[in-house]
Amino acid sequence: MDYLPVFLRLRAQPVVVVGGGQVALRKALWLRRAGAHVTVVAPHLHPELGQRVARGELTHVAAEFSSAQLVHAVAVVAATDDRAANAAVAAAARERRVPVNVVDDAELSSFIFPAIIDRSPIVVAVSSAGHSPVLARRVREQLEALLPERLGALARFMGARREALRRALAPRARRALWERVASGPVATHVLAGDEPRADRALARELLVSRLSAPQAAVGESLGEVYLIGAGPGDPDLLTLRALQLLQRADVILYDRLVSEAVLERARRDAERICVGKTYGDHGQQEHIHELLVRLAGEGKRVARLKGGDPFVFGRGGEELEVLAAHGIPYTVVPGITAALGAAAAADLPLTHRRLASSVTLVNGHAGDAGLPDWRFFANPRHTVVVYMGVAQLPGIIARLRAAGAAPGHPVAIIERATLPEQRILRGTLADITALAAAQQVEPPALLIVGDVAAFTATDTGASLTEPAAAAGLPA
Ligand code: SAH
Repeated sequence: MDYLPVFLRLRAQPVVVVGGGQVALRKALWLRRAGAHVTVVAPHLHPELGQRVARGELTHVAAEFSSAQLVHAVAVVAATDDRAANAAVAAAARERRVPVNVVDDAELSSFIFPAIIDRSPIVVAVSSAGHSPVLARRVREQLEALLPERLGALARFMGARREALRRALAPRARRALWERVASGPVATHVLAGDEPRADRALARELLVSRLSAPQAAVGESLGEVYLIGAGPGDPDLLTLRALQLLQRADVILYDRLVSEAVLERARRDAERICVGKTYGDHGQQEHIHELLVRLAGEGKRVARLKGGDPFVFGRGGEELEVLAAHGIPYTVVPGITAALGAAAAADLPLTHRRLASSVTLVNGHAGDAGLPDWRFFANPRHTVVVYMGVAQLPGIIARLRAAGAAPGHPVAIIERATLPEQRILRGTLADITALAAAQQVEPPALLIVGDVAAFTATDTGASLTEPAAAAGLPA
């Protein structure tokens, strides 16, 4: 290790920044964030530095650098654009034993600025010891995606309750409780922004701790369920929160629609259970309910991963009812529903100022009973997205025609949207059934019905999803 990473307390401490340009500005701002009293030494200032001096946030010494300016400094940053001038600052600092950072020159520096993720009071610092700042920033970005936005809030939440819990529990039980808080329902609720609910979960955890012997406390932890929308298939379309919870889950219950690529984003050692159902298998849903209750009852963190969004034809509501009935803590993470994934993949806006001002998501599998008036769908300026509809395609077309839709009414089929095997077919009510049969379209696929289904972004026809080419047909 070339450097020892430490966190320096600079509040109200004098720090000198030499240089008046952009780079000096950036360093001065970081130092200010840590509460330092910053003096900028430079004959001329960048306008924003000037404004901050005028507001009293920074002190300005309008002069060339001289060693005497370091007399009280606890640290100095050399940020001029002149190498020789920076080297002079470094030499003076070394002589006075003041820690010095020379911008872009690790050799002359005694300390360096890492790439930072600030979820104060949690702070992550990444350094490449000056070898590759670009790589350090890349690492920071990757870590950043895994760290919940409200991590700082969680740290403060826990900090604020430390004292009370210290009085309430013996050390061993207390440690076990904090472990459960950090990785269980309490954390989940704080990270989702619901502190009242987190406090109720904490009260339950406390009750468990008190009821069980201290040495048993670890095994008594409460399980929880994350009901997560996995999106349409492309793993890059997972939300950050989905990713964070997939990294935390002990068990993953996933549907058949969930792609392998998505599963690869989960914790490596998490147990995976496929609960994919073949359509019409009603016992399967009961089985899922039993599994959820049993696994959470064993204290596990269960990710219930569903294709698209859990609340769009995903039976997420039923699973929540079961969890609530058993008092199992849960959190719901939305996903990109297939309609949105398919629309983006096919460059088809679902609404458009000229073409459509409303959209309905319907279940093509449900039969007529649950469906609204098809005459409404027959209006081409209303977009209809049919889930689970390809097997029933002729019936759906017939109903639309009977409701008054014209033969030329545009229809698109998007098969396996956002996945590598994605296919897009475009046609009309008159020809889409034959087209789909010729192309052997299979589930999962969506129908998009209405004028937007004929949309192309360019009037030259040079769309990226050229219909004939996309369907694999001769142009
Ligand atoms: N909860 C899911 C829908 C589950 S119902 C969501 O929000 O997307 C299953 C139906 O969704 C499939 O029959 C198909 O119509 C549609 N679907 C799911 N993933 C799809 C994909 N990648 N491409 C096209 N359609 C998809």
